[in-house]
Amino acid sequence: MANGLTYARTTTSPEATKQLASTLAPYLHPGDAIVLNGDLGAGKTQFVQGVAAALGVRSPVTSPTFNILLEYGDGRLPVYHYDLYRLDERWQLEDIDYFSAIDGYGNGVAFIEWAEKFPEDMPYDYLEITITADTQGTRRVVAHSYGKRSRELLCVWANDSKSRLGKCQL
Ligand code: ADP
Ligand code: MG
Repeated sequence: MANGLTYARTTTSPEATKQLASTLAPYLHPGDAIVLNGDLGAGKTQFVQGVAAALGVRSPVTSPTFNILLEYGDGRLPVYHYDLYRLDERWQLEDIDYFSAIDGYGNGVAFIEWAEKFPEDMPYDYLEITITADTQGTRRVVAHSYGKRSRELLCVWANDSKSRLGKCQL
């Protein structure tokens, strides 16, 4: 996409993926949407666990595969963790308040797994995190911005030296 930014890093353990994720937390605003891509077992839930812990969420963060939506309200911002894998129809998205979570005006941060199942219903502006397994224990984490807000978010995240993503010029 034109004007999108891309940053990438390799992590060598689940802890390193969570550490990388935790460095995103301070920059998140209400209404932000993060789309997570990657095969089963890539590390998407680990990533959400890292962000949630850094936001101050104390309850255990688990995979929403069977619940479709899991919410955590005890951190600095509400966390809405969606997994659309088991949904088949667009109207089902209404039932889980998907649109108010991804329209940019929500009160919390939305993390969405399997968003690509509903290409017409992608967030207007979102940060895409794609995780791919390299060798055992190693993951390639690629972040790409789709839209103005997520570009800004990715840039400030990259500029945090603890993220080790590399310098970004706004
Ligand atoms: P997903 O949500 O993408 O299906 P999970 O986050 O539930 O995947 O699981 C990822 C699995 O991969 C965990 O068992 C974790 O211990 C393992 N793993 C191994 N190396 C890494 C790494 N570098 N980053 C994240 N997870 C890793
Ligand atoms: Mg998962």
